[in-house]
Amino acid sequence: MYLVLLGPPGAGKGTQAKRLAERLALPHISTGDILRQNVKAGTDLGKQAKGIMDQGLLVGDDLVAKMLDERFNNLDIKKGFILDGYPRTLSQAKTLDEILSNKKLAVDLVVYLNASDAVIVKRLTGRLVCSKCGANFHVTNMPPKAKGICDSCQASLYQRSDDNEVTVRKRLEVYKNEVASLIEYYTKSKKLYSLNADLDPGIVLEQVIELSAKV
Ligand code: ADP
Ligand code: ZN
Repeated sequence: MYLVLLGPPGAGKGTQAKRLAERLALPHISTGDILRQNVKAGTDLGKQAKGIMDQGLLVGDDLVAKMLDERFNNLDIKKGFILDGYPRTLSQAKTLDEILSNKKLAVDLVVYLNASDAVIVKRLTGRLVCSKCGANFHVTNMPPKAKGICDSCQASLYQRSDDNEVTVRKRLEVYKNEVASLIEYYTKSKKLYSLNADLDPGIVLEQVIELSAKV
């Protein structure tokens, strides 16, 4: 099952992708996570990406495509993946098809997690992320059991540097400029299903699982 999650920042792509990866025993591949790992490790890619990410803009297509192609060389994607954060533009959608077809693979299902602006801003500005396992929490909606500590791995939680209101609004704007052409692309190929992501994450998860079982 080669599953792509689409949706605005804060729609819950990361949260759903993590849970889906566990339930379906597939790797979770997040371009945002890979970029942040590069920033943390101080690689050349990380140095190029950091400033762009903090402004809420998109990192260059070539850089991200190369990074993804390398990730797909890992044999753990033999049975599928949950892809989160890619594609974000029509051009990236075409690149994804190319990279996969070179490996004799193809996207099976695209789930669009549709969320309203008000919900998004609230979710992101209160989001807390685990520094070790990447699990997501929220200061009020989904607080950790102990303040500042991850429930699953006990590492410390932090706030992403791009989760402030100004950058969140910019990320939303970038997203809205690009999403229509992506939706059209995947509607044409009949791979797209849309879900209401304002709902409780547990409900959304079951709906995605149901969709994936039909493919
Ligand atoms: P969100 O979708 O919640 O904004 P992500 O973790 O997916 O967060 O992405 C964070 C940042 O990483 C983006 O704002 C962008 O700068 C960069 N990024 C992630 N994925 C891509 C991509 N496919 N193309 C270009 N830039 C990306
Ligand atoms: Zn953790």
